[in-house]
Amino acid sequence: MISEAKRKYNKEYKKWYKLHHHDKYLQSRRREKRQWRINLKKRNPYRYWAGNVLNGHRRKGFIVNISVDELALMAKKAKYCSLCGGEIDWSYKLRGKNTPVQTHPSLDRADNSKTINITNIDIIHIKCNTLKGFTRRRLFLSICNQIIDYNVSI
Ligand SMILES: [Zn+2]
Repeated sequence: MISEAKRKYNKEYKKWYKLHHHDKYLQSRRREKRQWRINLKKRNPYRYWAGNVLNGHRRKGFIVNISVDELALMAKKAKYCSLCGGEIDWSYKLRGKNTPVQTHPSLDRADNSKTINITNIDIIHIKCNTLKGFTRRRLFLSICNQIIDYNVSI
């Protein structure tokens, strides 16, 4: 016969035990999920990038008329930045927490429209996209020219 106190203790212990293990369970699930994401990045960085980019744009209210696979295919072919011609770094090893490497890829909308089609996008460096900002490509190039001309003349 178990005493009332002992029964109470057992009950509390069980509760604590469950909670404790639940935490551990969640922790291991989180670890698994993280590993799965890392593996996905390693296995197919292009598709991983494409999925992230399209999700991000959708969240920001863009109309996305292109599938992840289509963009991933385009990404795979994009060895060089279409603005400066430099090599694009598709590795995810260098990327720290929330600090994208400047030579990593980013999506550039040629006409800065709210719709994303296969015809109006380019893959360029993050740094080039930051520099270009909201200007259209032709205007950006003419600004670059002006800067070069001015700096050469002085
Ligand atoms: Zn570039």
